[in-house]
Amino acid sequence: MLQSGKKKVEANDKWEILSCPSCHALVWAAEAVGGHSSRGEKQFTICCQQGRVRLPPVREAPSPLRELLESKKFRPHIRVANSLLAFISMGAQVDHSVTGTQGPFTFQVHGQIIHRIGSLLPEDGAPSEYLQLYIFDTDNELENRKRALTQGSSSLAFDDSVIIQLIDMMDKHNHLAKTFRHDRDSVTYEAERPPILFQYRRRGKGLV
Ligand SMILES: [Zn+2]
Repeated sequence: MLQSGKKKVEANDKWEILSCPSCHALVWAAEAVGGHSSRGEKQFTICCQQGRVRLPPVREAPSPLRELLESKKFRPHIRVANSLLAFISMGAQVDHSVTGTQGPFTFQVHGQIIHRIGSLLPEDGAPSEYLQLYIFDTDNELENRKRALTQGSSSLAFDDSVIIQLIDMMDKHNHLAKTFRHDRDSVTYEAERPPILFQYRRRGKGLV
């Protein structure tokens, strides 16, 4: 199945590209299920279960992300931007025997992929990371975020002003960021440390 709806490219071919009559997703003719609509159109379940699943339209990204997505300078670094603002780290039992080998890049895990989330505050003396960056020492948030991502070993590909705008966008539009900012503003951490949410393990952690 391909995305978004357009018209036929070639007739009488199982690789003919059609548009689902219900959701307008682009689909191969070979993906049609048996039967036709009352108007004689092929039916598809792969995209919308013949119109039974109706998803809300994709929401437009807020600014400045909307403009940045159009930027050829920014797009190659979009995962870095994502990691800069991540709330959690990804955990998985990675099979390293297949990574870094010849051929297409392969990433294989055993079992389940999980999200790791730690305490709301860093351990004594430890630098803040992930969701802690939304709560702790936010007067130095820009530097803290950059350090958490690069470990001080390299510089980022985009300007501080872009990072500041993205942080501001998260604060305005992301309900999790708003929640954690509220925690920052409403709790005196010197007097009362918030509870540990989940066990946090450092081994094998990665960025999302
Ligand atoms: Zn459909």
